[in-house]
Amino acid sequence: AGRRATLVDAWRDRVATSPDRTAVAYFDTLLSAREVDRMSDALGAALQDRGVRGGDRVGIHLQNIPQYALALLALWKIGAAAVVLNPMYFGRELRLPVEDSGAVGIIATDRDVAAIRESVEGTDARWILSTSERDLQTRNDPRVFGGTDPGAPSEDGDLVRLISDFSGRTPAPVTVSPDDLALLTYTSGTTGPPKGAMNSHANVVAVARSFADFVGIVPGDVVLAIAPLFHITGAVINATLGLLGDTTLVFAGRFRPEVVLDAFREHRVTYTIGSITAFNALMRLDEAGPEHFGSVKTLYSGGAPIPPSTVERFRERFGHYIHNAYGMTETTSGVVAVPPGLRAPVDEASGTLSVGVPLPGVDASVVGVDDRPVPPGQQGELVLSGPQIVSGYWRNAAATAGAMPGGRLHTGDVAVMDSAGWVYLVDRLKDQINASGYKVWPREVEDVLYEHDAVFEAAVVGLPDEYRGEKVVAFVSLKAGRTATGEELVAFAASRLAAYKRPAEVHVVGELPKTQTGKIRRRELRDEHTPS
Ligand code: ATP
Ligand code: MG
Repeated sequence: AGRRATLVDAWRDRVATSPDRTAVAYFDTLLSAREVDRMSDALGAALQDRGVRGGDRVGIHLQNIPQYALALLALWKIGAAAVVLNPMYFGRELRLPVEDSGAVGIIATDRDVAAIRESVEGTDARWILSTSERDLQTRNDPRVFGGTDPGAPSEDGDLVRLISDFSGRTPAPVTVSPDDLALLTYTSGTTGPPKGAMNSHANVVAVARSFADFVGIVPGDVVLAIAPLFHITGAVINATLGLLGDTTLVFAGRFRPEVVLDAFREHRVTYTIGSITAFNALMRLDEAGPEHFGSVKTLYSGGAPIPPSTVERFRERFGHYIHNAYGMTETTSGVVAVPPGLRAPVDEASGTLSVGVPLPGVDASVVGVDDRPVPPGQQGELVLSGPQIVSGYWRNAAATAGAMPGGRLHTGDVAVMDSAGWVYLVDRLKDQINASGYKVWPREVEDVLYEHDAVFEAAVVGLPDEYRGEKVVAFVSLKAGRTATGEELVAFAASRLAAYKRPAEVHVVGELPKTQTGKIRRRELRDEHTPS
């Protein structure tokens, strides 16, 4: 299949190339490409039997288990799209994407069926098919399967049971085209309400192919789904690299650092892309050593800024360098990344690590307020185009028009590109503070606060000020057992920053508000502290 193929074509090619190679691994279960193909055929037929048609949306509310891959493939084969839902979401947070997407049903874990039913009552989601994390494996590792009540299968049907009931059946043929919706992925909601990015078949195939070429994936590579699949970082890069390449995709369930660490060694993992939080969690394990990463070729981290010191500590301890990657829900995953084997340069002025260079086929530029490219080394908004980038947001023409004037994605991220093409992210455009006409980037002030011994997390926002227009205000949480007062931190920052960047106030709080993908929500802090 060519570059503008559907996921179904790409998957069929893969099955034809190496039908017997393990496509999916989960503890002691190894499923060959042919088996995965047959199981997803059966599930596709079962979903059609339930009334799912081409163009329908179906929610997936699962941890990283093999059923995820089976559900994705089954939906794609019948021309339906997957709405990838955060399995930690219930109530209002779950209802929003289910209602917005018009999902006709949901695939979930047995344990969660009752809570999901309650959350989505009255929406178009009329059925819940359930499955258990214990299915499709026999090891019953107590760290994973001990202690929790698995719950009872849904009255609407059990996934593994359906696969066996429909065994040998194939879905009725459906025409699927490259521009059809493959995934509906909601943004993290860091800067406003989450929006549904419409990732087409062509977008996802483009991501899988371009990333595989960029990092040099070869037949037999083993990809670990370390990041949760509901988030674009995990869903697309890991799942499709693992499924569509002539490779193995390893699942380890909900993220438990000690289980994931074992999976690296047991399955001889060669690649993964995760969040820096996941790598931090592995580093916190005393038992972790270089032997766990003996098969690893390249590691990537994406989705959030990574402090250079973390990368250095990981390399010293495990012998592997964490490569930075930048992507958004709207870019269907990583589109700017550090080439394997290279070290990201650090920007002298700000101390930030480069997020990498644009992947081949991605057109990246940094533009000024007039929407024209600025010279290398100057700040502006990062603007992207390429086959990975979505055509817009689901049923939200206003947001689409706002983000994609002239068909190019305006990322809302302020960046600098140097003359060699390395991209450095400065901050979010929306978070810029205007203090007496001076522009202040919160991240620079936060980085200074992070240098203080007692500071665990910091968020800087602009709050209305009669005299300056906006004033710089910081919120920090402290490391366990440490103390520091607001005044002390104001003085600390003042000694390291130009006058206009100095926080007027530093508030010490218990915890900072975060999105489910672990990003600090500056906007919530700003709204909460802005008098209406
Ligand atoms: P919303 O769009 O709903 O406000 P969000 O932008 O946080 O939420 P995502 O699509 O999950 O939702 O995240 C994309 C953003 O994450 C990018 O626009 C960028 O600001 C940030 N980001 C991604 N990768 C990196 C990276 N390697 N370093 C720093 N920031 C990153
Ligand atoms: Mg965004």
